[in-house]
Amino acid sequence: NPDRVFNFAAGPATLPEAVLKKAQSELFIYKDSGMSVMEMSHRGKEFTHIIQKAENNLRELLSVPENYSVLFLQGGATTQFSAIPLNICTPQDSVDYIVTGSWGDKAAKEAQKYCNVNVIWSGKSEKYTKIPGFGELKQNAGAKYLHICANETIHGVEFKDYPEIENKDGVVVADMSSNFCSKKVDVSKFGIIYAGAQKNVGPSGVTIVIIRKDLIGKAQGMTPVMLDYKIHDDNNSLYNTPPCYGIYTCGLVFEDLLAQGGLGEVEKKNVKKAGILYDAIDGSKGFYRCPVEKSVRSLMNVPFTLEKSELEAEFIKEAAKEKMVQLKGHRSVGGMRASIYNAMPLAGVEKLVAFMKDFQARHG
Ligand code: PMP
Repeated sequence: NPDRVFNFAAGPATLPEAVLKKAQSELFIYKDSGMSVMEMSHRGKEFTHIIQKAENNLRELLSVPENYSVLFLQGGATTQFSAIPLNICTPQDSVDYIVTGSWGDKAAKEAQKYCNVNVIWSGKSEKYTKIPGFGELKQNAGAKYLHICANETIHGVEFKDYPEIENKDGVVVADMSSNFCSKKVDVSKFGIIYAGAQKNVGPSGVTIVIIRKDLIGKAQGMTPVMLDYKIHDDNNSLYNTPPCYGIYTCGLVFEDLLAQGGLGEVEKKNVKKAGILYDAIDGSKGFYRCPVEKSVRSLMNVPFTLEKSELEAEFIKEAAKEKMVQLKGHRSVGGMRASIYNAMPLAGVEKLVAFMKDFQARHG
């Protein structure tokens, strides 16, 4: 559709056109229900089917093991920053955080209210451009969990494999908000995976939590009911009114990802898209620069700067004229950032790369 732009926003982000069209075709009247999904009871048979199918499709996509629950919650990933310590440790327990960017930092700061947080590695002094070697980490013996942010949305740093926790009673917890369902993941390596939907799998308002069942049911006494995983698990995410339309849309995205052949195929496309963009940056003789160490560059969020930083505003303005929008970097780091989630087509990245080369030829 020529009226649609290529939207490089970090989230809420672009959604697959096929999903939006399907949602549009069902928006007024959903199947034979005589009403919109927005209007129907969350306890009726249609919505029950919608949420169950969404869960089943997500389980298939990520090969979620039987002993894990899938929860569709609200409050964004930010709410999970507190729900996690509240649910899986006591105020006396200690927990380890690896901080590879702003989101990991926020998660650690929030958890400090509820337990003893040790930041065992921080990339801050190197401007969050790295992931530590796992051998150099000094984990605490009794740590209840080791928290990572699998993909730092602002800094463009992504774990390519995952550390293990040394405490055999502990678990690894991962914020996968910005690379959820972008590639295969071995769920069994984690105690909890959580993600806001609004980057790769749907609209904002839905937060997905995948949690090993034995971790459920040990929340601190003062945990608000809405943050208690047991309440949501016992009620199949229907304890209160869930974000029905958002869950429906996530379900459409899961179907679309399965139709593409699953996450192995999706990952191949993401590798290709990110590859041509990083190649363009690295091949620009310094005109464009990506600060992130090559081996941990994100497939999802590509930050870059212009050697002549005074041209950045012009770059963003000209790109917008050519229908490539939301390329401005996060206000905390500046420069540019192209978020190229699952739903960004290869054509969008190719167009951006062609524009970058042309811009360099005119301003280089
Ligand atoms: N974690 C990561 C990695 C994120 O990118 C974001 C949102 N940009 C958040 C957490 C916070 O998510 P929410 O806005 O859904 O609370």
